[in-house]
Amino acid sequence: MYYKILFSNGLCSMRVLVINCGSSSVKCHLINLASDERITVGKVQSIGESGGKFKNHQQALDHVVAEIGDQQIDAVGHRVVHGGEKFVEPVIIDSSVLAEIEACSIDAPLHNPYNLLGITIAQKQWSNIPHVAVFDTAFHVRMPRRAREYAIDSELAKKYRIRRFGFHGTSHEYVAGVAASALHSTANQLRIVTLHLGNGASACAVEYGKSTETSMGMTPLEGLVMGTRAGDIDAGAILSLLRSGDFTVAELDTLLNRKSGLLGLSGSSNDLRKIEDQAEQGDDRARAAINIFAHRARKYIGAYAAVMGGVDAVVFTGGIGENSATMRRRILQRLEFLGLVVDEDRNTDAVVSNENKSVIISDASSRVRALVVKTDEEYMIASLTMRVVNEVDKISATKSIPIAISARHAHLTQETFEKLFGKGATPTVHRELLQPGQFACKEKVNLIGPRNRLDGVRVLGPLRSIDQVEIARTDEFKLGVDAPIRDSGKITGSAPITLEGTEGTVHLNEGLICARRHIHMHPDDAKEFGVEDKDIVEVAITGGPRDLSFGDTLIRVSEKYKLEMHIDTDEGNAAELGRDASGEIICDAVVGAAAKLRRTRG
Ligand code: AMP
Repeated sequence: MYYKILFSNGLCSMRVLVINCGSSSVKCHLINLASDERITVGKVQSIGESGGKFKNHQQALDHVVAEIGDQQIDAVGHRVVHGGEKFVEPVIIDSSVLAEIEACSIDAPLHNPYNLLGITIAQKQWSNIPHVAVFDTAFHVRMPRRAREYAIDSELAKKYRIRRFGFHGTSHEYVAGVAASALHSTANQLRIVTLHLGNGASACAVEYGKSTETSMGMTPLEGLVMGTRAGDIDAGAILSLLRSGDFTVAELDTLLNRKSGLLGLSGSSNDLRKIEDQAEQGDDRARAAINIFAHRARKYIGAYAAVMGGVDAVVFTGGIGENSATMRRRILQRLEFLGLVVDEDRNTDAVVSNENKSVIISDASSRVRALVVKTDEEYMIASLTMRVVNEVDKISATKSIPIAISARHAHLTQETFEKLFGKGATPTVHRELLQPGQFACKEKVNLIGPRNRLDGVRVLGPLRSIDQVEIARTDEFKLGVDAPIRDSGKITGSAPITLEGTEGTVHLNEGLICARRHIHMHPDDAKEFGVEDKDIVEVAITGGPRDLSFGDTLIRVSEKYKLEMHIDTDEGNAAELGRDASGEIICDAVVGAAAKLRRTRG
């Protein structure tokens, strides 16, 4: 968790200025991270508008600077809406980062230019402290390709940068973390649907700590019904309106972004409070607006439960999600089939605040938990900012990590092993592996999928308490299955597979995964690298035939482990490492490449 990492590094008095510079507003929060205290909060609106107090952003920021006075600031965190494909995490802003943010302005013309303006003005004002950009899109950048791409010509999509990015990432990531803490767990142990319902609204499937689907797409227009945005609409309807000749492109933009959603449906307001009052008084359009809003959100919960192969928690946040008990109730209606039962009183009484950030609103008997969480993007931006500042160059970049390519293999239980190889059978050692106590067995199984079979897959010993079969992406298509990328041991909702041994056949309802790449290390190595168990790092492979970096690599620390990185055959091939390793079990390590670590978001 961010908080733990920050505080364990003794940054208790760090004060971060968070700047959110929009097209006509500037919001600033000076936050003391240790106490979560907002030392100064400044908000300037209507910049450049008639009746507004300030003519331009420079004036507005001058005002904010004057408010802050000579208070201590250790770093500045800037909210940047669009980080394109490049930024998967917050970064210290330098000239190349500025150029990239500018390049992303094509995709976010209403936001990025103002974010940039805020950065350049603030950099001049506070020139000798680090400035960090925190991107709304970063949490979603690594969504799987299946969720990222639209079903159009892929060459054309590339040319015109038509793909899904997703937004509200800082909020989704933050509330998933807070909800997990409230459930005495961590986000990387849970499958959570987060619903950020405010004037802008989006849903996110946070699968074991990662965004694997989100409802906003290439722009913040797709998905849920919003205050004034339409959300999902058939592209054919837009074509039809264009063909009518009654609308220019600019008018259609205004229609979909500013005159639709709750406002368009109700015909009166984008504020749910007013619409709820009108509905109570019998207004038909207001009632329809509420129903359509709730229906869309409920639909996404079901869809994301299916996408993640199950759901452990549903989280509400944003102005509507935090405050409208009736809307939450409506959305959660008829979800008992999923195992989600609402506690009416808890829902009605739920109040979240800075002091009490989360409330559980599901019944004690409910398998799926429902929570209301107060979002706090400013705190998250401050926290991420300090984390980046603190960790620059902290990780040792010199020590070389042996890389092992792990071909497809099976970990089996005693019961399954005996069904496959006969009663009383025990694994026989083919050869020892580098990790102490681990060995490749003489026994092999055949994997039978709906499309094809893969014969001669090595069993690894010793036997375990759950069956887990690990394959690579290429194997997936050969077998005709859809295996999720998972950390070892997390097989809930993974793919089914049939195993064939010499003495029998076993069908597993789940257990087939594509293993996530990881690095085993002893606590001494972890100390040397400056990382902890479950950290996520980026690994630069250098000195091999091809320089390449692998992001999203999990650190696993145990007294039992020896330093070794495990990647699968597809990844090995991509790096042109050990092509001849395919078919072999964990090949004999070290491909002679040095791996440099850099901590990323975890
Ligand atoms: P946000 O964009 O997250 O600030 O959310 C703003 C929206 O939250 C407003 O436009 C309202 O529609 C909604 N909202 C805030 N408070 C309430 C409330 N008590 N009941 C219903 N809706 C609310």
